[in-house]
Amino acid sequence: MYDVIIIGAGVTGSSVARELSRYDLKVLVLEKNSDVCEGTSKANSGIVHAGFDAKPGSLKAKLNVQGNRMMEDLAKELDFPFKRNGSIVLAFDEAGRPELERLLEQGKANGVEGVEIIDRARLKEMEPNITDTAVAALYAPTGGIVCPFNLTIALAENAAVNGVEFKLDTSVTNVRKENDKYLVETDQGTFESKVLVNAAGVHADTIHNMICEDKIHIIARKGEYCLMDKKVGDFVSSTIFQLPTKYGKGVLVTPTVHGNLLTGPTAVDIEDGENTTTTGDGLADVLRRAALSVENLPTRQVITSFTGIRAHEEKDDFIIGEAKDAPGFFDAAGIESPGLSCAPALGVYLADQITHRLNAKKKDNFIATRKGIPNMFLASAEERQKLIAENPLYANVVCRCELVTEGEILEAIHRPLGATTLDGIKRRTRAGMGRCQAGFCSPKTVEILARELGKDISEIRKNNPGSEFLTGFDKDDIE
Ligand SMILES: Cc1cc2nc3c(=O)[nH]c(=O)nc-3n(C[C@H](O)[C@H](O)[C@H](O)COP(=O)(O)OP(=O)(O)OC[C@H]3O[C@@H](n4cnc5c(N)ncnc54)[C@H](O)[C@@H]3O)c2cc1C
Repeated sequence: MYDVIIIGAGVTGSSVARELSRYDLKVLVLEKNSDVCEGTSKANSGIVHAGFDAKPGSLKAKLNVQGNRMMEDLAKELDFPFKRNGSIVLAFDEAGRPELERLLEQGKANGVEGVEIIDRARLKEMEPNITDTAVAALYAPTGGIVCPFNLTIALAENAAVNGVEFKLDTSVTNVRKENDKYLVETDQGTFESKVLVNAAGVHADTIHNMICEDKIHIIARKGEYCLMDKKVGDFVSSTIFQLPTKYGKGVLVTPTVHGNLLTGPTAVDIEDGENTTTTGDGLADVLRRAALSVENLPTRQVITSFTGIRAHEEKDDFIIGEAKDAPGFFDAAGIESPGLSCAPALGVYLADQITHRLNAKKKDNFIATRKGIPNMFLASAEERQKLIAENPLYANVVCRCELVTEGEILEAIHRPLGATTLDGIKRRTRAGMGRCQAGFCSPKTVEILARELGKDISEIRKNNPGSEFLTGFDKDDIE
């Protein structure tokens, strides 16, 4: 019997888990994928929004501004990359100016610090590659960029270190209430808890509707992106938005916290919340719309593309808290953008309610800090030499594009909630994220995974079951 079961190990579930791990509680996280951060949390813009977009008074607005304020300290505590690079929203003609004014007032009402409207001259000075057609812009210096994988993994890992159990490859098939406990049926057996947290992303409506009378409906909204090489990572320094539409914040152009250039997303409602395919039309649309914001977008530097799925709830705000007709059932549903930015505050907000219900006591042995995996790419010459002296595998380069060594890969595998798949290694170390997109390093990484996990090489997967790399040997076919 668990005190709390959380369904979903995205940034939301992981943040709630970490906050609950401050307390003397038995907590279990159930995740259908083979790793944490395999849902929407792995495929988004990575922006820590300033907080001027959301309607004043909404939960989105409140948690966004709080989450933004918390991100810097959290990044230091849990050692993940975060940078306050500032956000800019462009107006392309005078007709857009009233909308900029509206966003400015909304930002002020939400408590966003330093937000202002800047003219074309200042804009060009800040961002020389901005299109000449931009007449003015909203500037929010508190906007930032974060690594969404590292944020989520750091939260989950720290929760695990503090006693939270994670069961991966475990899909919840049904939930029901029996007396004062919840029975959570999965493809790996049934688990029981006093409190159940629904952080199931695009599937949060399915889980919610199994328990509650007031049904909710999540619309899966697809967003496609193009990621460009680090060569052009300094093409812009702030995150460049266009005025928002009813489908969201529009196509942005931004540096990533790792020094790439990112542009996207589209916004198309789809039926299948797992459909993360990219399309020629979608990517062409991204590049066409991004080119409205900047001159000479370096489209030849695109190294990969990807799709993320927004969990848009029809009522257009987050649904967070205890369900009225189901005591002990807590939703974190409809967590679309700015869910990443909100995550630190959302975790605290929900954990407060849960610990109040369970009358939980704080532990005195909570470990608040975590050290990330050493990063040879960013390390100074002295730091590199020190690491190599301690472990010569830090001199064995596996991924040439991102300078990732065998030492880093071993660390990614053997730390708590360690990587068991190629994508798990990629998200923890960046091996395979560079220009060649794993063409060079994947065979070597697969070998290391097999060796370290004591598996046969044919069992090593890219991510979930069915994505095994090796299907046989060339010579067998010849024979
Ligand atoms: C295109 C796009 C751009 C975005 N850009 C930004 C941005 O720049 N800044 C920002 O702040 N936010 C952004 N967001 C929003 C942000 O990414 C999400 O709000 C956030 O990642 C949601 O996290 P989550 O944990 O709620 O959902 P997820 O990450 O989807 O996690 C839910 C988890 O639940 C698991 N699950 C579901 N059903 C079951 C089941 N039955 N059994 C077991 N496990 C289950 C899933 O496998 C998944 O891992 C963007 C979103 C998209 C799609």
